[in-house]
Amino acid sequence: MNTVSPSAIALSVVVPVYNEQDGLGALFARLYPALDALGERYEILFVNDGSRDRSAALLAEQQRARPDVTRVILFNGNYGQHMAILAGFEHCRGRVVVTLDADLQNPPEEIGRLVAKMAEGYDYVGTIRRKRQDSWFRRHASRWMNLLREKITHVRMTDQGCMLRAYGRDVVDTINRCSEVNTFVPALAYTFSLRPTEIEVGHEERAAGESKYSLFKLVRLNFDLVTGFSLMPLQFMSFLGIALALASGALFVLLMIDRLLFGSQVQGVFTLFAITFCLLGVLLFSMGLLGEYVGRIYEQVRGRPRYVVQAVLDDTEVPAAGADAPARAADGAGAR
Ligand code: UDP
Ligand code: MG
Repeated sequence: MNTVSPSAIALSVVVPVYNEQDGLGALFARLYPALDALGERYEILFVNDGSRDRSAALLAEQQRARPDVTRVILFNGNYGQHMAILAGFEHCRGRVVVTLDADLQNPPEEIGRLVAKMAEGYDYVGTIRRKRQDSWFRRHASRWMNLLREKITHVRMTDQGCMLRAYGRDVVDTINRCSEVNTFVPALAYTFSLRPTEIEVGHEERAAGESKYSLFKLVRLNFDLVTGFSLMPLQFMSFLGIALALASGALFVLLMIDRLLFGSQVQGVFTLFAITFCLLGVLLFSMGLLGEYVGRIYEQVRGRPRYVVQAVLDDTEVPAAGADAPARAADGAGAR
């Protein structure tokens, strides 16, 4: 869809935005100078993920203020941070693509270091937050999820939660060929990268507004990560099932022998209750787990658009013919 020569633009920065009106001013004030200082041709793609506050208006205003480097994609609803990044990937033209959160938790000044690392020949630069400034619960929950993900998927990342990352053009192009409905962009990129590396970056407290991730959304995101990149949970449940079946078979034989030798007895009935409830718990959990996979298959086969683009605000100078027309409406990109 985009015929602009990718080599024309060195760097694209993709920023997902969801209800960030209070922090956008500070973001603009730091992001543009940081990128101007790099001295390379760049573009910034803001993807408004259906914000219900003034974010879209502020982005449009900013696009008018810096039309040379700013492009804004407006979704018609809230499709989630990772879908917003994927839309940015589909529209961006840079040789290197950096993703950045809009809340200034990751300093935009670090982008230069990511770009320099990419220039060393890597095709994916991940990041590790030097001193993470999040709540105790978030820090510990993600440490456990990191551990679990390391064990059950092929994805090797020290800090999966940090979204300030740089991706090479090839990696982005391959991601653009995927049509996964629920996905986790950093892990997907890792899958396709040939030479990944990581660097440490600073981390700050949220400048304004609050985290857009409720506990429920966080759990869902982590399920996306696990179910999208591993079948290990299902295999683990089969092994657990076999082990439990063998154990209960042995218990049955034991009880039969006991009954034949000593006659019928009612002791131990509560122990049996306890065992039964425990097994019921395991059963319900494995059904739920199965449901997680089935639900995702269902969403995938339904084949609805992953997101709907309402409008693209774009007046950037287009170096090649036939590229994005300015302010295209109802783009529908990503509809597969
Ligand atoms: N975000 C988004 N859609 C969502 C949730 C979040 O585009 O449904 C954006 C949000 O505006 C921010 C980034 O994703 O730019 C990270 O969100 P947040 O800072 O709330 O996540 P946290 O830092 O708490 O993990
Ligand atoms: Mg944040």
